[in-house]
Amino acid sequence: MRETKLKQILAAMDAQQYALTVGTATGEALAAAFAKRRVVHAGVRGKPLGPGEWQTAWQSLLRQATKAKQRAAYIHIPFCRHRCLYCGFFQNYADEDRETAYIDSLIKELQLSRDCRYLASGPVNAVFIGGGTPSTLAPHNIARLLDAVRACLPLANDYELTLEGRINDLEPARIEAWLAHGVNRVSIGVQSFDTGVRRSVGRLDDTATILKRLELLSGYNQATVIIDLIYGLPNQTNEVWASDINLLKTAAIDGLDLYQLNIYQGSALQQAIQAGKLPPAATTAEQAGMFAAAGATLTANAFSRLSICHWGKTNRERSMYNTLTKAGRHVIPFGAGAGGNIGGATMMLNRDVAAYIKSIEQGHKPIAAMLLLPAGSELHNAVVGQLERGYLNLKGLAVRYGPEVLELEPLLAIWEARGLIETGPAVARLTVAGQFWYMNITQSVLECLQALTSGRHAVAVQPIAAQG
Ligand code: SF4
Repeated sequence: MRETKLKQILAAMDAQQYALTVGTATGEALAAAFAKRRVVHAGVRGKPLGPGEWQTAWQSLLRQATKAKQRAAYIHIPFCRHRCLYCGFFQNYADEDRETAYIDSLIKELQLSRDCRYLASGPVNAVFIGGGTPSTLAPHNIARLLDAVRACLPLANDYELTLEGRINDLEPARIEAWLAHGVNRVSIGVQSFDTGVRRSVGRLDDTATILKRLELLSGYNQATVIIDLIYGLPNQTNEVWASDINLLKTAAIDGLDLYQLNIYQGSALQQAIQAGKLPPAATTAEQAGMFAAAGATLTANAFSRLSICHWGKTNRERSMYNTLTKAGRHVIPFGAGAGGNIGGATMMLNRDVAAYIKSIEQGHKPIAAMLLLPAGSELHNAVVGQLERGYLNLKGLAVRYGPEVLELEPLLAIWEARGLIETGPAVARLTVAGQFWYMNITQSVLECLQALTSGRHAVAVQPIAAQG
């Protein structure tokens, strides 16, 4: 009985949609379980509010106490000193005068919500200052911002306060300003340790400088040090990637994120490759091999896996912000381009710095879009949170959210036969191949749940973004 509805749903799909949802039985699960890699922006269908409703809705959210046990805040710094070739998020070039005016507004934005019931009703466990390049801010500006964060947000005793940055900015005056004003976790975009690979995509420092600057930061012994690496960059051969991963063993870090290269349409990287100025980036199949090789080396060297792409090297790394956001916890947004989610609503703030500053001057939250979420967003968040950590507990989800969830079992059986998951007595775990394709798996599970629950849990089917 249970299988019937899912089978009907799958049978009603055309061949292309079926392949996108279920994948293809190629016998090469790691390299080719799906024809195209999907970039998950799985969202929850909500009710968009019109611009005239945003301020009232925001004020109403701030007036409500929350029972949310753990909350986070995200603060966006939309400035970078250089534009990296592969980046799809660049907003503005760094300029100290402009940054000073921006930090003035950011502090006002923090002060505008300081005394509300929502903030008073519980601690903020994790703050992430991201960008852009927050580390590029002059010490006086970051110090002012950090003081305002600590004055305006009720930070938990064991709060995590992360600042995102570049190797190039790791110098004593900046580091000491961060540490003296409350930063206890620094996340650095290394991308590759290889000098040639880095320079070909707009990163400046060489291998020895990177390792020395990580030593410098780690030597203060006051902050968790995390780095990002990207796999699949032009010139990043399997040998270069193996060297990147091996260097993690000796680098002065507490944890790392491994990201697959996405080439954004129209990006400078895409143009450079098309013009023949750079060799092609790795194919999806080649990226799959790099993902598997990295996982094997890190596992063999006792790195602990915190999520599909995040690893801890020491017990200093808690990855609290990432864990909270992936589980759909409240995230209070501040800054031009920040996104957040509190009290059953999601919101995006204005990306344009001038418009952002003007809005703050008028005493408004600079909202650019706002949605009210339906009750089913909890099921969505639970699925995303589990798959981010490499498993799915259908029985547990069914107890909490309803028996329709169990109708996914036949889909999991197909993926098990193809080597993407392994079903155990309690939970289904993603294999290495399943981990590589977890975004496709997540999106497919959410879409099938949407169809199965027929709107009872409104898990949205988002427009499909796929990369070849
Ligand atoms: S520093 Fe980060 S946000 Fe800025 S251009 Fe480079 S990748 Fe993009």
